[in-house]
Amino acid sequence: MSKVLIDPGHGGIDDGATGFGIKEKDRNLVMAKAIARELRLQGVQAVLTREDDKSILLADRIALEHKEKPDCFISCHMDAAAETASGMTIWVHSKADNVIWNWAQDVMKELKAVGFTTNRAQSVSRGYPGSPSSDYYVNRETVSPSMLIEFGFITNQNNLNEHIEHCTEYAKAVAKAVCRFVGVEYKEIIPQLDGCVDRVEYDRVCALKDKFQSGLDEQQKRAEKAEAALKQAAALAVQTNSCLNQANSLMAQILRLTKEE
Ligand SMILES: [Zn+2]
Repeated sequence: MSKVLIDPGHGGIDDGATGFGIKEKDRNLVMAKAIARELRLQGVQAVLTREDDKSILLADRIALEHKEKPDCFISCHMDAAAETASGMTIWVHSKADNVIWNWAQDVMKELKAVGFTTNRAQSVSRGYPGSPSSDYYVNRETVSPSMLIEFGFITNQNNLNEHIEHCTEYAKAVAKAVCRFVGVEYKEIIPQLDGCVDRVEYDRVCALKDKFQSGLDEQQKRAEKAEAALKQAAALAVQTNSCLNQANSLMAQILRLTKEE
Protein backbone atom coordinates (compact mmCIF):
# COMPACT_ATOMS: atom_id res chain seq x y z
CA MET A 1 0.00 0.00 0.00
CA SER A 2 1.29 3.45 -0.91
CA LYS A 3 1.90 5.78 1.97
CA VAL A 4 1.98 9.59 2.09
CA LEU A 5 3.10 11.70 5.03
CA ILE A 6 1.27 15.01 5.25
CA ASP A 7 2.64 17.77 7.41
CA PRO A 8 0.34 20.58 8.60
CA GLY A 9 2.82 23.43 9.13
CA HIS A 10 3.24 25.09 12.57
CA GLY A 11 0.84 24.25 15.47
CA GLY A 12 0.50 24.77 19.21
CA ILE A 13 2.48 27.81 20.37
CA ASP A 14 3.58 28.42 16.77
CA ASP A 15 0.65 30.12 14.97
CA GLY A 16 2.54 30.61 11.71
CA ALA A 17 1.21 33.62 9.83
CA THR A 18 -2.07 35.34 10.70
CA GLY A 19 -4.53 37.06 8.39
CA PHE A 20 -7.94 38.51 9.10
CA GLY A 21 -7.97 36.91 12.55
CA ILE A 22 -7.30 33.44 11.11
CA LYS A 23 -4.18 31.54 12.12
CA GLU A 24 -2.15 29.71 9.50
CA LYS A 25 -1.66 26.66 11.76
CA ASP A 26 -5.44 26.09 11.81
CA ARG A 27 -5.89 26.37 8.03
CA ASN A 28 -2.86 24.10 7.45
CA LEU A 29 -4.42 21.42 9.65
CA VAL A 30 -7.76 21.63 7.87
CA MET A 31 -6.06 21.36 4.46
CA ALA A 32 -3.78 18.49 5.57
CA LYS A 33 -6.75 16.55 6.95
CA ALA A 34 -8.71 17.15 3.74
CA ILE A 35 -5.81 15.82 1.64
CA ALA A 36 -5.48 12.79 3.93
CA ARG A 37 -9.22 12.10 3.60
CA GLU A 38 -9.05 12.25 -0.21
CA LEU A 39 -6.01 9.96 -0.33
CA ARG A 40 -7.61 7.42 2.02
CA LEU A 41 -10.67 7.32 -0.26
CA GLN A 42 -8.26 6.23 -3.01
CA GLY A 43 -6.78 3.49 -0.86
CA VAL A 44 -3.58 5.38 -0.14
CA GLN A 45 -2.35 5.34 3.45
CA ALA A 46 -2.11 8.91 4.75
CA VAL A 47 -0.23 9.75 7.94
CA LEU A 48 -0.22 13.22 9.51
CA THR A 49 2.65 14.76 11.50
CA ARG A 50 0.03 16.26 13.80
CA GLU A 51 -3.70 15.54 14.15
CA ASP A 52 -4.53 18.51 16.33
CA ASP A 53 -3.30 21.91 17.49
CA LYS A 54 -0.08 20.86 19.19
CA SER A 55 3.50 22.16 19.05
CA ILE A 56 5.83 19.91 17.10
CA LEU A 57 9.48 20.52 16.29
CA LEU A 58 10.70 20.41 12.70
CA ALA A 59 13.16 17.73 13.80
CA ASP A 60 10.29 15.60 15.12
CA ARG A 61 8.41 15.94 11.84
CA ILE A 62 11.51 14.65 10.06
CA ALA A 63 12.03 11.88 12.63
CA LEU A 64 8.52 10.68 11.82
CA GLU A 65 9.32 10.80 8.10
CA HIS A 66 12.42 8.68 8.69
CA LYS A 67 10.36 6.21 10.71
CA GLU A 68 7.32 5.99 8.40
CA LYS A 69 9.36 5.89 5.16
CA PRO A 70 6.48 7.29 3.06
CA ASP A 71 6.39 7.31 -0.75
CA CYS A 72 6.26 11.09 -0.55
CA PHE A 73 6.00 13.98 1.92
CA ILE A 74 3.88 17.12 1.61
CA SER A 75 4.10 20.10 3.96
CA CYS A 76 1.03 22.39 3.95
CA HIS A 77 1.49 26.12 4.52
CA MET A 78 0.12 29.56 3.63
CA ASP A 79 2.14 32.59 2.65
CA ALA A 80 2.06 36.02 4.27
CA ALA A 81 2.97 39.41 2.78
CA ALA A 82 1.27 42.66 1.84
CA GLU A 83 -2.47 42.39 1.28
CA THR A 84 -2.02 42.66 -2.48
CA ALA A 85 0.23 39.59 -2.72
CA SER A 86 -1.69 36.56 -4.00
CA GLY A 87 -1.15 33.11 -5.50
CA MET A 88 0.22 29.67 -4.73
CA THR A 89 3.79 28.39 -4.76
CA ILE A 90 5.23 24.90 -4.50
CA TRP A 91 8.78 24.63 -3.14
CA VAL A 92 11.00 21.64 -3.85
CA HIS A 93 14.61 20.91 -2.91
CA SER A 94 17.23 23.11 -4.60
CA LYS A 95 18.69 19.99 -6.21
CA ALA A 96 15.40 18.19 -6.81
CA ASP A 97 15.66 15.70 -9.68
CA ASN A 98 13.32 15.64 -12.68
CA VAL A 99 11.03 13.07 -11.08
CA ILE A 100 10.28 15.42 -8.15
CA TRP A 101 10.22 18.50 -10.37
CA ASN A 102 7.64 16.90 -12.70
CA TRP A 103 5.57 15.69 -9.75
CA ALA A 104 5.48 19.24 -8.37
CA GLN A 105 4.50 20.59 -11.80
CA ASP A 106 1.71 18.03 -11.94
CA VAL A 107 0.42 19.05 -8.48
CA MET A 108 0.48 22.71 -9.54
CA LYS A 109 -1.32 21.88 -12.80
CA GLU A 110 -4.14 20.22 -10.83
CA LEU A 111 -4.30 23.10 -8.32
CA LYS A 112 -4.45 25.66 -11.15
CA ALA A 113 -7.30 23.69 -12.74
CA VAL A 114 -9.41 24.35 -9.63
CA GLY A 115 -8.90 28.06 -10.21
CA PHE A 116 -7.24 30.31 -7.68
CA THR A 117 -7.30 34.10 -7.44
CA THR A 118 -3.82 35.23 -8.26
CA ASN A 119 -1.87 38.26 -9.35
CA ARG A 120 1.37 36.44 -9.96
CA ALA A 121 2.53 33.35 -11.77
CA GLN A 122 1.59 30.29 -9.79
CA SER A 123 4.81 28.45 -9.88
CA VAL A 124 7.03 25.62 -8.77
CA SER A 125 10.32 26.88 -7.32
CA ARG A 126 13.55 25.31 -6.17
CA GLY A 127 15.18 26.16 -2.85
CA TYR A 128 14.07 28.94 -0.56
CA PRO A 129 12.51 32.40 -1.21
CA GLY A 130 15.30 34.72 -2.32
CA SER A 131 17.88 31.98 -1.96
CA PRO A 132 17.68 29.23 -4.60
CA SER A 133 20.62 27.29 -3.16
CA SER A 134 19.11 27.12 0.38
CA ASP A 135 16.26 24.84 1.31
CA TYR A 136 13.26 24.61 3.58
CA TYR A 137 14.08 22.32 6.49
CA VAL A 138 11.37 19.84 5.50
CA ASN A 139 12.72 19.63 1.95
CA ARG A 140 16.35 19.47 3.04
CA GLU A 141 16.07 16.77 5.74
CA THR A 142 13.49 14.42 4.24
CA VAL A 143 14.60 11.20 2.59
CA SER A 144 11.42 10.73 0.54
CA PRO A 145 10.40 13.00 -2.36
CA SER A 146 9.04 16.13 -0.70
CA MET A 147 7.38 19.43 -1.39
CA LEU A 148 6.16 22.41 0.58
CA ILE A 149 2.94 23.92 -0.73
CA GLU A 150 2.03 27.52 0.04
CA PHE A 151 -1.73 27.37 -0.52
CA GLY A 152 -2.04 31.08 -1.24
CA PHE A 153 -1.61 34.08 1.04
CA ILE A 154 -3.45 34.15 4.36
CA THR A 155 -2.96 37.93 4.25
CA ASN A 156 -5.02 38.17 1.04
CA GLN A 157 -8.78 38.11 1.57
CA ASN A 158 -9.52 36.34 -1.74
CA ASN A 159 -6.85 33.69 -1.20
CA LEU A 160 -8.07 33.06 2.34
CA ASN A 161 -11.69 32.77 1.16
CA GLU A 162 -10.58 30.28 -1.51
CA HIS A 163 -8.77 28.26 1.14
CA ILE A 164 -11.85 28.20 3.36
CA GLU A 165 -14.54 27.70 0.69
CA HIS A 166 -12.73 25.33 -1.69
CA CYS A 167 -10.48 23.33 0.61
CA THR A 168 -11.97 20.01 -0.52
CA GLU A 169 -11.41 20.82 -4.20
CA TYR A 170 -7.77 21.74 -3.59
CA ALA A 171 -7.31 18.60 -1.51
CA LYS A 172 -8.75 16.53 -4.36
CA ALA A 173 -6.42 18.24 -6.82
CA VAL A 174 -3.38 17.36 -4.70
CA ALA A 175 -4.66 13.80 -4.21
CA LYS A 176 -5.05 13.31 -7.98
CA ALA A 177 -1.42 14.27 -8.69
CA VAL A 178 -0.16 12.29 -5.68
CA CYS A 179 -2.05 9.18 -6.85
CA ARG A 180 -0.40 9.47 -10.27
CA PHE A 181 2.97 9.86 -8.54
CA VAL A 182 2.61 6.76 -6.37
CA GLY A 183 1.00 4.73 -9.17
CA VAL A 184 -2.55 4.51 -7.86
CA GLU A 185 -5.37 5.01 -10.34
CA TYR A 186 -7.50 7.95 -9.19
CA LYS A 187 -11.24 7.15 -9.12
CA GLU A 188 -14.24 9.38 -8.43
CA ILE A 189 -15.32 7.36 -5.43
CA ILE A 190 -18.75 7.75 -3.85
CA PRO A 191 -18.02 7.31 -0.19
CA GLN A 192 -20.67 5.62 1.92
CA LEU A 193 -19.99 8.06 4.68
CA ASP A 194 -22.04 10.44 6.76
CA GLY A 195 -25.22 9.21 5.04
CA CYS A 196 -24.23 10.94 1.78
CA VAL A 197 -25.74 9.51 -1.39
CA ASP A 198 -23.31 10.92 -3.95
CA ARG A 199 -19.91 12.52 -4.32
CA VAL A 200 -21.40 16.03 -4.69
CA GLU A 201 -23.21 15.76 -1.38
CA TYR A 202 -20.18 14.22 0.29
CA ASP A 203 -18.00 17.09 -0.96
CA ARG A 204 -20.53 19.57 0.37
CA VAL A 205 -20.53 17.92 3.82
CA CYS A 206 -16.72 17.82 3.82
CA ALA A 207 -16.52 21.47 2.72
CA LEU A 208 -18.84 22.51 5.56
CA LYS A 209 -16.82 20.47 8.05
CA ASP A 210 -13.56 22.01 6.79
CA LYS A 211 -15.05 25.49 6.94
CA PHE A 212 -16.14 25.23 10.53
CA GLN A 213 -13.32 23.05 11.86
CA SER A 214 -11.03 25.89 12.92
CA GLY A 215 -13.97 27.69 14.50
CA LEU A 216 -14.85 24.51 16.39
CA ASP A 217 -11.30 24.11 17.67
CA GLU A 218 -11.37 27.70 18.94
CA GLN A 219 -14.71 27.16 20.68
CA GLN A 220 -13.49 23.93 22.22
CA LYS A 221 -10.49 25.78 23.67
CA ARG A 222 -12.70 28.55 25.01
CA ALA A 223 -15.06 26.01 26.59
CA GLU A 224 -12.10 24.29 28.27
CA LYS A 225 -10.92 27.64 29.66
CA ALA A 226 -14.42 28.47 30.92
CA GLU A 227 -14.63 25.07 32.62
CA ALA A 228 -11.27 25.62 34.34
CA ALA A 229 -12.43 29.07 35.50
CA LEU A 230 -15.64 27.55 36.87
CA LYS A 231 -13.67 24.91 38.78
CA GLN A 232 -11.49 27.66 40.27
CA ALA A 233 -14.58 29.67 41.24
CA ALA A 234 -16.09 26.58 42.90
CA ALA A 235 -12.86 25.97 44.84
CA LEU A 236 -12.84 29.62 45.93
CA ALA A 237 -16.48 29.33 47.03
CA VAL A 238 -15.57 26.33 49.21
CA GLN A 239 -12.70 28.31 50.73
CA THR A 240 -14.92 31.35 51.29
CA ASN A 241 -17.51 29.14 52.93
CA SER A 242 -15.04 27.64 55.36
CA CYS A 243 -13.75 31.15 56.16
CA LEU A 244 -17.33 32.23 56.88
CA ASN A 245 -17.87 29.21 59.13
CA GLN A 246 -14.68 30.05 61.00
CA ALA A 247 -15.75 33.68 61.35
CA ASN A 248 -19.17 32.55 62.61
CA SER A 249 -17.72 30.24 65.23
CA LEU A 250 -15.30 33.00 66.32
CA MET A 251 -18.22 35.40 66.57
CA ALA A 252 -20.13 32.86 68.70
CA GLN A 253 -17.10 32.49 70.97
CA ILE A 254 -16.83 36.27 71.35
CA LEU A 255 -20.53 36.52 72.18
CA ARG A 256 -20.19 33.74 74.77
CA LEU A 257 -17.17 35.45 76.32
CA THR A 258 -18.91 38.85 76.49
CA LYS A 259 -21.94 37.22 78.15
CA GLU A 260 -19.75 35.40 80.66
CA GLU A 261 -18.14 38.71 81.61
ZN1 LIG B 1 3.93 28.44 7.22
